Amino acid sequence: TPLFIAKAEGATLTDVDGNAYIDYVGSWGPAILGHAHPAVVAATRQALERGLSFGAPCQAEIDLAVLVKEAFPAIDLVRFVNSGTEATMSALRLARGYTERSKIIKFDGCYHGHADSLLVRAGSHDPAALSALGDNDLESVDRLLAANPSEIAAIIVEPVAGNMGCVPPQPGFLQGLRTRATQVGALLIFDEVMTGFRVARGGAQARFGIQPDLTCLGKIVGGGMPVGAYGGRRDIMETLSPLGPVYQAGTLSGNPIAMAAGIATLSTLFEGDAYAVLEAKGAALEAGVAVAIDQAGVAASFKRVGAMFTLFFTDGPVTTFADVARCDTVRFRKFFHRLLADGIYMAPSQYEACFLSLAHTEAMIDTTIAGIARALRA
Ligand code: PLP
Repeated sequence: TPLFIAKAEGATLTDVDGNAYIDYVGSWGPAILGHAHPAVVAATRQALERGLSFGAPCQAEIDLAVLVKEAFPAIDLVRFVNSGTEATMSALRLARGYTERSKIIKFDGCYHGHADSLLVRAGSHDPAALSALGDNDLESVDRLLAANPSEIAAIIVEPVAGNMGCVPPQPGFLQGLRTRATQVGALLIFDEVMTGFRVARGGAQARFGIQPDLTCLGKIVGGGMPVGAYGGRRDIMETLSPLGPVYQAGTLSGNPIAMAAGIATLSTLFEGDAYAVLEAKGAALEAGVAVAIDQAGVAASFKRVGAMFTLFFTDGPVTTFADVARCDTVRFRKFFHRLLADGIYMAPSQYEACFLSLAHTEAMIDTTIAGIARALRA
């Protein structure tokens, strides 16, 4: 029974019945400044006056590319598309073209959009997609690499998993992937559609100090408009048409209005100490929730990386997809609805991450902690 939303402003959603909620979904990630930030609305409105779509390059694409490159040193060249799905789909196509191999390794629990090779257990018939046993599992990667010598084009991963709830990488996991990809001549693709500009200005690759070959972006880079991007090493990106043989295009890619929203979002985000502020908000919420869990005596584990988090109902560790699959989702559902009735809108599934924005005030975070404490006690 999804809510139908009439309006979103700051960290508040209002539904069609007039109920207001403190929002921790943030349009699934893009709204890091808060909804309808005045700078983003103004820039989008100005762009609108100049035309909806040109079907030709525009200066705003270059300006947004410069902001992306500043934040992601591993990106020499970047190409804009219209969604995160398109970014990962195009990056895979490029990886296959560049390596002249067809197979890819992805991880159970990681979501990369709905391209055929990337939803291997949800109606896909792509025989070239190999699913490693679970996130944070290097042994299953080794098994797949050994069984498919010189056949793997790419390993794709969410460097902080967000789509099985927020699950941070285990120490050594990302470095292990980097080493293995280089050893076998496969490309390492970081899907930073969720984590890019979220867990640090330079994404998870900056936060954990690992350089992928290709990076996929989405969500925040479009500031709430439909945008994705993929980029990386120059020699790989130059395999794309018109410089190389791998064709990829899009009628609305680099759309001037979407680019304007992205530029306004990133420029605002890069002013001041946004990431320190987000970290502090995340830490305050985490501390309050830890006390609430303790006082309620409920088996639960709060996982957070910067301004993304999930509360898991389990008495065990949460490091792999198998751990997440053991969580009590019935209890999660009750928790979610209890919070909703209290005016707090969390991601409606145990298998999703929640997001803080710069618009979440201290008072909102306190209200949320109190609501969580009530819900856990109930
Ligand atoms: N990759 C990741 C990590 C995502 O979280 C998502 C969407 O949630 C996607 C890819 C797909 O992006 P989109 O929904 O814009 O197609």
